[in-house]
Amino acid sequence: MRKKVIAGNWKMNKTPAETTVFINELSKVTAGKNNCDIIACVPFVDIQNAVAAAKGTNIKIGAQNVHFEKSGAFTGEISADMLLDLGVEYVIIGHSERRQYFGETDDTVNLRVKAALSAGLIVILCIGELLAQREDGITSEILSMQTKKALKGLTKDQMKNVIIAYEPVWAIGTGKTATAEQANEACLIVRDAVAEIFDKETAENTIIQYGGSMNAKNAAELLAMENVDGGLIGGASLKSADFGIIVDAAQ
Ligand code: PEP
Repeated sequence: MRKKVIAGNWKMNKTPAETTVFINELSKVTAGKNNCDIIACVPFVDIQNAVAAAKGTNIKIGAQNVHFEKSGAFTGEISADMLLDLGVEYVIIGHSERRQYFGETDDTVNLRVKAALSAGLIVILCIGELLAQREDGITSEILSMQTKKALKGLTKDQMKNVIIAYEPVWAIGTGKTATAEQANEACLIVRDAVAEIFDKETAENTIIQYGGSMNAKNAAELLAMENVDGGLIGGASLKSADFGIIVDAAQ
């Protein structure tokens, strides 16, 4: 049985002061709900406050990106060691917004995944097809390729610290959600790709989330699917009541 993982991606929302208030509020909503892992992936500047407020609660803190070099002349970037030093446990890598607006490629995603794992972070790797790719009938090829490229060079052991978030790009922040069947089918395609790279056991043990306009209304149906092991949630993670309902659905 894979444990469900519910992760919020706050994107570029909430100041450090708002973070303290929000995590305090959220920890009341999630108290005692220990049948799934609960993560808040916050902006870099919010990390310190988020870690302090989450101490002693069941909420873990993640970042939304990490650079692949250990240190050096990379103005504006943040290393895995810096995140660890602040108490970060998880990091989102390869989010479609990073791919679309910040030139992230499958190759840099792979470098970031390797750097994060080597430092001891747990990776939430995002993959997903564009609407045009789905309409062209190449979703399966795209998901397999992105999975294989992102995980290139990893060991089976390292895969214990990799969560994959299947996020159809057309569903992110659009209010359009994949149907439960589409989500399940895509997560199975990703699982099959993991089995091809590693083996069936590794694939069966890998947490594969769905992300893309998951909310308080549709979470239960999506999370009930056999291959959907949790959610990566943007908009609905910014309201504690909604996020709480999603956590309840994952219980
Ligand atoms: C995301 O940011 O990963 C995401 C899925 O956003 P939203 O839930 O707002 O679609």
